[in-house]
Amino acid sequence: MKCSVESLPLLQGVIDCIDVGTLVLDAGERVVLWNRWMGQHSGVLDAETVERNFFDLFPEQRGKRLEAAIGQALRSNLPSLLSQTLNRWPLPLYSSKAAAEKGERMQQQITVTPLNLGNNERYCLIQVADVSAAVQRENLLREQAVALRSQTLLDDLTGVANRRHFDMAIDRETRRARRMGTPLSLMMLDIDFFKAYNDHYGHQQGDACLEAVASTLSTMQQRPADLFARYGGEEFAVILPDTPGDAAVMMANAMCRKVRDLRIPHQAARMDERIVTISIGVASSESGQAGEVYELINAADRALYQAKACGRNRVHSV
Ligand code: GH3
Ligand code: MG
Ligand code: MG
Repeated sequence: MKCSVESLPLLQGVIDCIDVGTLVLDAGERVVLWNRWMGQHSGVLDAETVERNFFDLFPEQRGKRLEAAIGQALRSNLPSLLSQTLNRWPLPLYSSKAAAEKGERMQQQITVTPLNLGNNERYCLIQVADVSAAVQRENLLREQAVALRSQTLLDDLTGVANRRHFDMAIDRETRRARRMGTPLSLMMLDIDFFKAYNDHYGHQQGDACLEAVASTLSTMQQRPADLFARYGGEEFAVILPDTPGDAAVMMANAMCRKVRDLRIPHQAARMDERIVTISIGVASSESGQAGEVYELINAADRALYQAKACGRNRVHSV
């Protein structure tokens, strides 16, 4: 950069207009430059800082990361970046008057850069950026992402309906069955010896197996109101509105067959055939008999337990 004596006031003007806190310390850690931004946000004016030691102005910085960074710049010629994630608000700086009144410090990102003027005089440049708005925006986006995830109706791993979707659908369909006097069937479905599968093949292949089973079974429902959902872990549920028990059992048997037909090897299965199989419990409320949601779920759970107890790879209904 070209710099003549005449351009010094211009340089001073530029430094004062920069929207970043800019200060320079000499080798004795005394302040030799303090721009207007620093005055505005710290309440300490330029004139009050001249020849003052930086740590007299900010005594709470003694022994902190910033002191180490200044030492490194002045003595070892090494730059540092103090990111806002580790040191949120090191200096008593405030974005606005209102924030200062509330005692809310700005979130700061500080860089410390060694300056060598070629005459063996060491200085260091400290730049302070106000990242409060960026951090606030980031937090807002993170909160929105969490909220959106909780509103989604799809399971992350398998892409089928998730538990939230199931809970809403079973509630809606039970009320509809009661109102319309129609039958309603529910299947609870669980992969056999899946813990042993994970133990034998590893969790990642376990996930791939879950995806394969879910994608095969989720295409088998015929009507728009039918819902195939991941109930939790390696358990799935199927809601079949307006479907009596015998039709649901037929469909459940077809689902068991379909999984067997995938012939996914399962060396750790304690079955005759070493392949992945499922067990299904079916519960139904016949026309005009719909009870409470929990009754249907409990009945399907009991039926699933029976299917497991009777040897797995089968359908049981109550
Ligand atoms: P059973 O035949 O009686 O159903 O035996 P099981 O081993 O399948 O039953 P258990 O409930 O003991 O084990 C279920 C296993 O499913 C345990 C858990 O590690 C695994 N599991 C649950 N969710 C996931 C998942 O998202 N991914 C993987 N890979 N495994 C899962
Ligand atoms: Mg289970
Ligand atoms: Mg299981």
